[in-house]
Amino acid sequence: MTDQLLLDHQYDQKAAAQSHLMPHFTKGTAWQAGNMAVIDRGEGCYVWDTDGVEYLDGLAGLFCTNLGHGRSDLTAAAMKQMDRLAFYPTWGTANPPAIQAATMIAERFPGDLDEVFFVSSGSEAVEAALKFARSYHVSQGDTERYKVISRNWAYHGTTLGALSVTGIPKFRKHFGPMMWDGVRHVRNTYGDSVPEGTPASELESIKAIEAMILAEGPETVAMISAEPVQNGRGAVVPPVGYWQELRKLADRYGILLHADEVINAFGRLGHWTGSERFGVVPDMITFAKGVTSAYLPLGGVAIRKPLVDALWESEMGVYMHGSTFGGHPVATAVACANMQAMTAEDINGHVLAHEDGFRARLDSVMAAHDCVKEVRGIGYFYAIELMASRAVGRKLNDAQVAELQGGLLGKFVRDARVLIRPDDRGATMLTISPPLVADNAVLDDLAERVSSALTMTDKYLKSHAC
Ligand code: PLP
Repeated sequence: MTDQLLLDHQYDQKAAAQSHLMPHFTKGTAWQAGNMAVIDRGEGCYVWDTDGVEYLDGLAGLFCTNLGHGRSDLTAAAMKQMDRLAFYPTWGTANPPAIQAATMIAERFPGDLDEVFFVSSGSEAVEAALKFARSYHVSQGDTERYKVISRNWAYHGTTLGALSVTGIPKFRKHFGPMMWDGVRHVRNTYGDSVPEGTPASELESIKAIEAMILAEGPETVAMISAEPVQNGRGAVVPPVGYWQELRKLADRYGILLHADEVINAFGRLGHWTGSERFGVVPDMITFAKGVTSAYLPLGGVAIRKPLVDALWESEMGVYMHGSTFGGHPVATAVACANMQAMTAEDINGHVLAHEDGFRARLDSVMAAHDCVKEVRGIGYFYAIELMASRAVGRKLNDAQVAELQGGLLGKFVRDARVLIRPDDRGATMLTISPPLVADNAVLDDLAERVSSALTMTDKYLKSHAC
C-alpha cells in the first residue's frame, strides 16, 4: 500500500488496524474480530465513526474531552504556537506557554500549590509525585521514608511506579516481580459511613490508614495517595470530613498528602479541583486529561511551594527528575486556551448548575430498570452499579457477570449509540462522564441512550435468570 493511499483513506481501515495498531487494554480476540468502531470525527458531545454512525461521547473520550470536540479556539492556539516555537525543553530554560500555564494553574489550584512540574500523562504525573515525595523527605534528612499508602481498587496509572500505587488486581497481576515493594493498599471509602454527629475520624476507612501507618512505622511512610472521588469501584464519593481527616493524619505523622486528580481536576466535579470541592489543601495534586481537554497530551504535579523551597534550599538542591516533553510549548499553549475558555464560559458553574438535573435523570433511569443497584457520583462523574434484580434483591450470578463483563455490556452500549464505559473494577458497572459542556438537551439524550442500554441488560437478565 502506498503512503498516498493511506493518507487518502483508500484502504480497509479495520483490517489495517488489526494488522498494525495495537489496542490498549483490549483482548486480542475481540480486536481480531474486527468490529471495532473507527472514530473519525467529533463535534461537541458527539462523535462519528467511519461508517457514519453517530455516538454520544458519554465518557468524554476517557474523562478528558472536557470542552467537547471540534473547538477551533484550542486548535488555533496549537497552530499559532507551533508556527512560533514548536519545541524547546524545560531543562534549564523556560518557554512562554509553559510559564503561563503554570501560573494559570497555580492561580486556580487551592492554597499554596504554586509550583507546577509538567509531564505528558497521568501515569507520569503520579511517577513525578512519588519521586518528589521521596526527594523531599530525603532532602530534609528523613531518609527512611519511601512507603506509600493508597487504596483498594484505585487506578493511578500503568508505568511501574504508578502501577504499584494502583490497587486493581487485574492490572497488577503479571507484573508483581517488577513492582517496588513500598506501597500498602487499604480500604477505600465505598460503603463507609458514621452515624450523624460522629466525627469522621471514626470512619473505618480513616482508621485503616492510621493503623497501616502505625504498623509500618510512621518514619517510613512518605505519602498518602487518593483521588477525591475514586474512579475504580465506581465513582466513590468520600464521606463528609474524610479529606480533613486525611490532612490531619498526614500532618500528624509528617507524611505528604497526594490528591490524584487526573480525572477530578479541571471541572469534572464543578470546581478546578476536587480538593477545592472537599475543602482541603493537599501537598501535591496530580493532573492530566482535562488540563487540555485532551487536545494534546499534558500532565503534571502541582506542589506546595514551601516544600519545593525546602528541597531547593537543602543540600540536595535539585529535584532529580525530568523528561523531554515536560512543559511542551504547544501542549501548554493548548492548556492556557483551555483554561481561558473554561473561565470565560464558566464551565464549573455550568456543571454545578446541571449536576442535580443530571443526577435526577440517572435516578429516573434507575427507577425504570430492575437491573440497577445504585447510582453513585457527583458533578459530571457517575457510576451505575448493576444487579440481577432490584425487585427481588438478587445479585448477578457468576455466569451473568462473565457474560456482561466479557463483552455483552459493551455491545449493549454500542447498540444504544452511547460511548460509556462497561466497568468491571470491583463490580459490574457503567461509568458515565460526559463532556462538561453537555447541556440539558445532551443530558436528556444521554439518559435516553443509557436507558436503552439498560433495557437490553434487563431483557438479557430476565432471559438468563438462573
Ligand atoms: N491517575 C488517575 C486517577 C487516572 O484516572 C489515570 C487514568 O485514567 C491515571 C492516573 C493515568 O493517566 P494516563 O492514562 O494519562 O497515564
